[in-house]
Amino acid sequence: MNGALLEVAAISVTFDGFKAINRLSFSIGPAELRAIIGPNGAGKTTFMDIVTGKTKPDEGQVLWGEVSRNLIGMNEARIARAGIGRKFQRPTVFEDQTVFANLLMALKNTRAPLAVLFYTPKRRDVARVEDLAGEIGLAEQIRRKAGELSHGQKQWLEIGMLLAQDPKLLLVDEPAAGMTLGEREHTADLLREAAKTRAVVVVEHDMEFVRRLDCKVTVFHEGSVLAEGSLDHVTRNQDVIDVYLGR
Ligand code: ADP
Repeated sequence: MNGALLEVAAISVTFDGFKAINRLSFSIGPAELRAIIGPNGAGKTTFMDIVTGKTKPDEGQVLWGEVSRNLIGMNEARIARAGIGRKFQRPTVFEDQTVFANLLMALKNTRAPLAVLFYTPKRRDVARVEDLAGEIGLAEQIRRKAGELSHGQKQWLEIGMLLAQDPKLLLVDEPAAGMTLGEREHTADLLREAAKTRAVVVVEHDMEFVRRLDCKVTVFHEGSVLAEGSLDHVTRNQDVIDVYLGR
């Protein structure tokens, strides 16, 4: 499969007779950052629901990893264990726990259930959590309760919690929404850094943020891929211009 980590081939989904995804194909390499853009209703969320096993496509294939394992029909927990992590728009951190405890919890949850039950933090886990806090820019806040963090810091903490589980593919939904300019810059740096060792797909509406990500862009429209390439390339595409101008 041409060295791709994820290869989605001609998938379709119909909701009550409406084709939300229409023979959509998409592929991403193992250390690649990709932005998905497209107007509301283009199928971006449904696409992520399919990749994570929440929605089953009516046709097509979702192939994963070196051995091109078919993910269709696998439940969400198994897909997550195979190495696909998803971050939703709203951060879901444990507000009354510290940054350290949140990250440690995420790290601990990668272990087998019985091991989690009898878990005591190892020195290397503590070191890993401290490294992660540094990677997400929260080294100074490591003893603070997550509830005291800003909206942007909570988003980074949640990204850190996903990174603790070391996914091979991270799907991120509108990470920059509601952030200050400085927070957006930091978020773009964080995602670019994360994509050096794993695939990262970012669904985003904010074009300035997409420009900061400085990566290949895939434009979805009516459940299919309308255009793909650099941001400059796709924003010069007449079909893309027409879709965004509502023609
Ligand atoms: P986007 O994330 O790009 O805004 P979505 O994937 O949320 O687009 O939606 C694609 C289309 O599918 C929309 O027209 C939406 O109304 C429709 N849709 C999504 N989920 C459902 C569902 N569970 N039932 C019916 N229609 C749905």
